[in-house]
Amino acid sequence: MANYNLAVIGAGPGGYVSAIRATQLGMKTVIVEKEFWGGVCLNVGCIPSKCLLEDTHLLYELNNSAERGIKTKGLEVRWEEIQMRKEKVVKQFTEGVQFLLKKNGVDMKIGSARFVDSGRLKIISPAEHEAEVSADFFLIATGGRPAELPHIKIDHEFVIDSTDALSLKEIPKKLLIIGAGAIGLELGSVYARLGSEVVNVEIMPECLPGTDKEIAGALRRELEKQGLKIHLDSKVDEVQMKGKGLTVKVSGKFNGEISADKVLLSVGRVPNTENLGLERAGVNVEKRGFILVNENFQTSSPNIYAIGDVIGGKQLAHKASYEGECAVEIMAGHKPYLHRPIAGVVYTSPEVASVGLSEDEAKEKGLNIKVGKFLFRANGRALSMNAPAGLAKVIANRDTDEVIGVHILGPYAGELIAEAVMAMTLGASLEEYQLAVRAHPTLSEALREASLSSEKRAIHKVD
Ligand code: FAD
Repeated sequence: MANYNLAVIGAGPGGYVSAIRATQLGMKTVIVEKEFWGGVCLNVGCIPSKCLLEDTHLLYELNNSAERGIKTKGLEVRWEEIQMRKEKVVKQFTEGVQFLLKKNGVDMKIGSARFVDSGRLKIISPAEHEAEVSADFFLIATGGRPAELPHIKIDHEFVIDSTDALSLKEIPKKLLIIGAGAIGLELGSVYARLGSEVVNVEIMPECLPGTDKEIAGALRRELEKQGLKIHLDSKVDEVQMKGKGLTVKVSGKFNGEISADKVLLSVGRVPNTENLGLERAGVNVEKRGFILVNENFQTSSPNIYAIGDVIGGKQLAHKASYEGECAVEIMAGHKPYLHRPIAGVVYTSPEVASVGLSEDEAKEKGLNIKVGKFLFRANGRALSMNAPAGLAKVIANRDTDEVIGVHILGPYAGELIAEAVMAMTLGASLEEYQLAVRAHPTLSEALREASLSSEKRAIHKVD
């Protein structure tokens, strides 16, 4: 039986990054992947969804360019070619991950891994061959999959999940999406731009639950202008097959029936923890199946660590990677800087990007805060881009002067948030954040103006 310092289960952004970091630290490492190198993120998540979002954003811009003096004629959407480009990008990245693992000397095994006990893994290959490996440490990075509802099952034809929605053969005329979280709004935007009638039904009082309410509400109004219908405080009770289509019964703030060709179930994700033999290894899970870990990502079995979507919290690729790096460094006896701020981005148009506490969260914690805002319609770069919608919002602790939250709805918010992440990682005070001079004309000026506005001293705004 082969023996390793570390055995990683799952080659998503959590697992493959951990394996590479482990070999950099001199650990003899094996990684086991059952389905796809690069995990959900590269194969059926972040990357393919962003390809579709980018291409359909271009379409939307061209369709709406007349007001900028650019009239287009005879625009044609070749859905198959859009899909082919997406597949090409995915292939490039998944091959890239395999190349990196190989070059770093990680042993790569294809198969499904299961604990025999807390020191051994059984690997069952796709051809049903069994092998065992032992290791000093294990890292569980098995991620998750789309959640189902007890009364609505995914059949992958009429009721679909996000993976199906990324590769539909045809653009549906009517798409009903259960959920208005990040994935539901991103995929809703893709199909609305392609001409589908899109309706999102969300049980919560606002879209993007967990996001700063003001930002989420402002995004919803923008998406509604783009043609998405979003029913809040409403729940889907039943999906019925009627003739060739579906009838969806909805109750709550919206009460009635909606017809659809496809229903996309986008109500969160559940962890991949079944069939891992966790009981045999002494690894505890909570009631929804997420693996319980301490602040060092260590499970109830001391030599077994877990990171990424399988431990819950924000389900984001970069969170999984960062946690993996930390866990491996801890195994190697290092003391990484834990609990760094993690930004979340929603790639709608405009984009949403946030880091740190929302205004409500800060108030719930009883913090004495100051809040500054700045609208992109007063920002030179945003106007020249014809992208005036949205705002930047900076929240600081009045007692300590620390920047504790930055929230953006606007063009390239996902890129802009990096400066706030940097500031918060370095523990910047509001004063330091205000001192940094941004280039003109750039979108980043809106962030500085927002930070100044929290003290009523923004220049291009009357507070
Ligand atoms: P995963 O990526 O889920 O990888 C787990 C891997 O483990 C899989 O490859 C699986 O096959 C393997 N595995 C499972 N069980 C076993 C076993 N027993 N043996 C061997 N291998 C096993 N996040 C972002 O940050 N930005 C985005 O823009 C974004 N967009 C998204 C869009 C969509 C449509 C979806 C679905 C998700 C998106 N996410 C995004 C979320 C992101 O994909 C996940 O947070 C991320 O992939 C989690 O990484 P992970 O390594 O924890 O798990």
